[in-house]
Amino acid sequence: MMKTHFDAVIIGAGPAGLTAAIELSRCSWKVLLIEKSEFPRTKVCGGFVGPENIELLQEMGVYDDLLLQGAEKVDRVCLSASNGAQVRIPIASNSSSLHGLALSRKLFDWTLWNKCEEEGVELKKESVAVPTESLEGFDIEVKNWKNNHVEQVTARYLIYANGASKQKGSAASGFFGISALFKNVTNMDKNVFLHFVQNGHLGINQFENGLTNICYVADKKMHQSVGGNLEKLFLKFKEENPVIREQLSGAIQETPWKGMFLPKKSKHRFSEKNIFYLGDQVGLVNPVVGGGISLALSGGQLLASLMGNYEASQMPFEIVAERYESEWKKRFFKRVCWSKLIGNLSHQKIAANNILWLLNRNQHWLEKIFNFYHKPVSLKKFNETKVEAIL
Ligand SMILES: Cc1cc2nc3c(=O)[nH]c(=O)nc-3n(C[C@H](O)[C@H](O)[C@H](O)COP(=O)(O)OP(=O)(O)OC[C@H]3O[C@@H](n4cnc5c(N)ncnc54)[C@H](O)[C@@H]3O)c2cc1C
Repeated sequence: MMKTHFDAVIIGAGPAGLTAAIELSRCSWKVLLIEKSEFPRTKVCGGFVGPENIELLQEMGVYDDLLLQGAEKVDRVCLSASNGAQVRIPIASNSSSLHGLALSRKLFDWTLWNKCEEEGVELKKESVAVPTESLEGFDIEVKNWKNNHVEQVTARYLIYANGASKQKGSAASGFFGISALFKNVTNMDKNVFLHFVQNGHLGINQFENGLTNICYVADKKMHQSVGGNLEKLFLKFKEENPVIREQLSGAIQETPWKGMFLPKKSKHRFSEKNIFYLGDQVGLVNPVVGGGISLALSGGQLLASLMGNYEASQMPFEIVAERYESEWKKRFFKRVCWSKLIGNLSHQKIAANNILWLLNRNQHWLEKIFNFYHKPVSLKKFNETKVEAIL
């Protein structure tokens, strides 16, 4: 059987894999992207894309498309605690045009998928890959589980961008994520909301088509306290935080709850032999800070830029792997570590009440924390790094 050869096979069509595919294809690499699910697909996610990603989305040529298809601009992040304390963080200021985006992952990932197609990436959905090592890289069996069609391909490099769920050795984190779409939610004008309760938080985001996404994360204790009943869990959030109660008083649910257990990331891994890891496979950002998509996008860009240029730069491939790991750590390591602490504190009712009270009086701290997580990733700075790496 004739085997088609690819420079890289990417596994997983989330923001990490899709970005790497687009960027590698632009470096003239022949890329195959394999996604196991039907596509486009819905995904449990807050759907907040931080302002630090806008420049990259523009560079990728998808930003205008996203807005055209109904992605909402976000100008403010509004936080509330169980005692009713509230703070607002402005994203956009008079001096900057920066804003976040709010949209469903169905729309976001599908738009990137279409861009991949446009850039010449070969795409296979509803398929899984079984790779075996070969002299030149990998022999890969690609099987479509829907029609049982099997194809053999070869690749020099394999990139795992298949999210956190299937990570070897990963255990359940003890957290549960749930989301559904609603209408008639008040106060949504360019705002994204994060409401805290004991053992959980709830995000509210305006999506396309006039629908509002409600996505909450609850820990095992809270989940067990209602016998795993998602409707009761939602009522518990409303009981515990008066701001949620008020905002959702007239809300009407449009889609059923969809839930998932959040995996626990044990250790960071970046590469081994001719394999690279990307996005949630490398490091998990606690969803409370809404930075996972950012890490996936800019991590994808970072890896593709290093891989795509390594031949021209004549760097040994091990140096690319080292560079990937060190650049990743420089950019994201602190964010990942601090997000755990912020996540833990925000789920303690007393801590969340007091922290919000304090932040209310010290707005500049809040902006500092937000900017730490959502500082625009300077492409210029990255390109300088690339040059440095080559020299
Ligand atoms: C409840 C919750 C809310 C969140 N809210 C936000 C938010 O508002 N903003 C934000 O920035 N981040 C948020 N995040 C984090 C964000 O969802 C992730 O960080 C991001 O999706 C990671 O992207 P990725 O490409 O690494 O993986 P994923 O988006 O998980 O994509 C992986 C893809 O790989 C596919 N796949 C898996 N296994 C295989 C296989 N064997 N073969 C082929 N394909 C496979 C999957 O079907 C999937 O399409 C949230 C996370 C949770 C849990």
